[in-house]
This record gives sequence, C-alpha cells and structure tokens, in this order.
Amino acid sequence: MAEGIRTIGGINSSLISGRFDPRSMVQFVEFTADWGAQKLYLQREAHEAFLRMKQAAGDDSVYLFIVSAFRSFDRQREIWEDKWTGRELAGDKSLKNFRGSAHDRACIIMEYTAPPGYSRHHWGTDIDINSVEPEYFDTPDGKRVYDWLNRRAGEFGFCQTYTAFSAQRPGGFNEEKWHWSYEPLSYPIWSAQLKQFEHRLKYRFKGYSALSRIDLFEYLRCVNHCSSLAGQETPEDRKSTLP
Ligand SMILES: [Zn+2]
Repeated sequence: MAEGIRTIGGINSSLISGRFDPRSMVQFVEFTADWGAQKLYLQREAHEAFLRMKQAAGDDSVYLFIVSAFRSFDRQREIWEDKWTGRELAGDKSLKNFRGSAHDRACIIMEYTAPPGYSRHHWGTDIDINSVEPEYFDTPDGKRVYDWLNRRAGEFGFCQTYTAFSAQRPGGFNEEKWHWSYEPLSYPIWSAQLKQFEHRLKYRFKGYSALSRIDLFEYLRCVNHCSSLAGQETPEDRKSTLP
C-alpha cells in the first residue's frame, strides 16, 4: 500500500534523505523526460506547477524542460562517489589524481554537489532546468531562459535556491542558475531538515569521514528563499552545530 511522506508530528526523515521508492508514494508522479526515455519523479503538486510554468514560458517562446528531478539516496551516492574517485568531473575539475587532503577533496565536490542524504533533489520538489552547465546561462538562449525564470517563476511557486553569494547568502553551494525549488512544498521540508539535523552522519559512503570538519549545516541553511513564504516559521536562528 502506498504510504505518505508526512508522519504524525512532522516530515519523515526518509523523505528528507531520499531513502524511499517514489513509485510507492502517493504524492509522487512519474513522467518521461523531454530529452529521452528516462523516467523522472516529482511530487505531483510540484510537477503540475512546473507544467503550468512551462506552458506560460512556451507562450513567450521560451522552452523549459527538466534535466533532473527527484534523486534517491543511492543515485546521489553514485554522483558523489563518481566525483570523489574522478570518474566524473567535480565542476570543471577532475579529482582522479588529486593530491590534497580528503577535506579539500570534499570541499571541491561540495561546490556543486550535496553528499548523499542531504540533496534537495531527494524531496521531489526541486528541479534542474534546461542545463547544469554554468556556461549555458551565458549563451543568448540560456540568458533568455534565466531572464524569463527570474521574472516569472515566482508566479508558479518556483524560486532559485542557490543564488550568487551575498550578505543574504554568505556561504553554501555555488550559484546554480538551473536549480529551482517549488517552495510551497520544499520550505517545510527544509525547515524540518534543519530542525532534525545531527552533525554525526548516519550514512556511509566514500569520503564521508571528511565531512566531520565541514559545516554541512551551513551548506543546508544558506539557501535563497522567495518572498511569498516570508513570515513562515524559520529555523535560521539555530546555531551552527559544527563541534
Ligand atoms: Zn539541482
């Protein structure tokens, strides 16, 4: 029987950390990527909001498509470990023959990639739109897409999570013009994530011990929110938990 993501008293830690099968979740919907046969998953409400946004963008001759939606804990672990071992680039860097410390290696990966269990892609509320290459957003096409999203995405509940660093967002993951979050659903999950945060990692993956000297809580906390949700309870006054 399908189970819900909310448990009595809050948001299930399995949802926060992506340790579930979206096909067993009533809130999730499966759909096919525009660019191939791959099945993607999102929470239904977020997907419907995206489709409305895509339609509105299309009316302005701007083509939006989802590159990445829900990712499980195991998929995020593959992504993390492929970067850790140098199988895949971390940003524009290969860590295959990296001579620095494990801590430095983890910091490079965390410019763009969350450790497994800590990605917002686990939630079914966050999407990457059109490309995950920063250079794409410098092209005329990419600039039009980003400009449209900046003007209109808020109408559909979407907000750019990783904006450029500023006084409001002093740290965390690098700027990502492609990563947009459906805040009516993601904000309460984010809030629960920070409330439930424990510095001691529950999960094991390559390089996990390097995270003991990284303030992961700050990475999770330092995200941009859009004004429509201002005034909700925020956990931002919670102290960092790095020992
Ligand atoms: Zn993303």
